[in-house]
Amino acid sequence: HMMLREGLYRLNQQAMLHYTHLLTQTPSGEHARNYLEQRGITRDTIKELNLGYSPNRWDDMVLFLKQHKVTKAMAQASGFVLSRRETKGYYDRFRNRIMFPIFDVTRQVAGFGGRVMDDAVPKYLNSPETPVYSKGRILYGLHLSKIHCRQEDTVYIVEGYFDFISLYQCGIKNCVATLGTALSDSHVRLLKGAASRAFLVFDSDMAGINAAKRSIGTFLKEGLDVRIIILPQGQDPDSFVQQNGKSGFEACAKKAMSVIPFLTRAAVDQFGLSVEGKIKIIQEMKEHLARVDDPAARSLYIHELSQTLNIDETAVLEKVRTAFLESAGVSDIAYLPRQDGDTAPETG
Ligand code: ATP
Ligand code: MN
Ligand code: MN
Ligand code: MN
Repeated sequence: HMMLREGLYRLNQQAMLHYTHLLTQTPSGEHARNYLEQRGITRDTIKELNLGYSPNRWDDMVLFLKQHKVTKAMAQASGFVLSRRETKGYYDRFRNRIMFPIFDVTRQVAGFGGRVMDDAVPKYLNSPETPVYSKGRILYGLHLSKIHCRQEDTVYIVEGYFDFISLYQCGIKNCVATLGTALSDSHVRLLKGAASRAFLVFDSDMAGINAAKRSIGTFLKEGLDVRIIILPQGQDPDSFVQQNGKSGFEACAKKAMSVIPFLTRAAVDQFGLSVEGKIKIIQEMKEHLARVDDPAARSLYIHELSQTLNIDETAVLEKVRTAFLESAGVSDIAYLPRQDGDTAPETG
């Protein structure tokens, strides 16, 4: 198995060089070069990120694998080729796409993403799970950004390839991309080794807001300080930074929201401020509030929520307390944090 993994890393490295050669040195890469130029990506960036181009053929990689005398088992495990359905043999997974090599933190090429250059679907295609590529364990760009995350003790987390690339190119180098997948525990653990503060900068659309909501719990569980940067409606970090530059982005970052206000706003947007809406909002927010460790922060958030909903603060407090007891379990009651103005619970 170790042999297979090493072989796959070597093969990925060779394939990356093949794709970068096609992009930068051949006539067939011209369309792809123009595409990247039109998206504002410089030659230096193309070089630093080892971007490439997979040609418009069904057998480019098939032939490449043959020429490199790659075994059938290795070829199948690599994810570059798929079995033909009707006849014997294989065909290429990535055709006529901008190729993004995906590095792991040890700077080995673990897999690839590919983007079409028109409106064809699917817009993006990634390597399948292989012995060296697991999307839940890899963050795009971390091999380059880790040192910068350490320096700033901060990481910006974005969704897409171009989001990472545009931020990185304009000098915001402490960022990573999740590649559209939900943030996993192992993602957060990877990040924890690089910074103690995280900013979520997801697309300003329903999908992005929902992805941010889903990711927050994972962060809080791992004890990372996380804030959410809200971009203007319809923008993503790539489009925003291409329009507004580094300073525009930094201005947005200054206005980043803490978790509880963000979740409150999302819940208000979702449920509205009718009586039924408010009940649902409290129902949802009490769970989040019960997980806030710092008693001062919790108290302030509870105050804020009760003001937003225009209801009595003690009612919200009571709900949060119940949620805390339920999540802690009866045996943990002795560890319940005390709060000013509250009576301490019975410890039996
Ligand atoms: P672009 O700016 O090139 O149009 P994007 O990054 O803004 O792309 P989104 O639709 O916002 O595209 O998706 C965010 C990320 O999710 C993508 O960068 C990609 O990593 C991943 N993704 C999107 N669509 C797909 C897909 N069909 N298959 C696999 N991954 C996808
Ligand atoms: Mn999106
Ligand atoms: Mn996007
Ligand atoms: Mn985009």
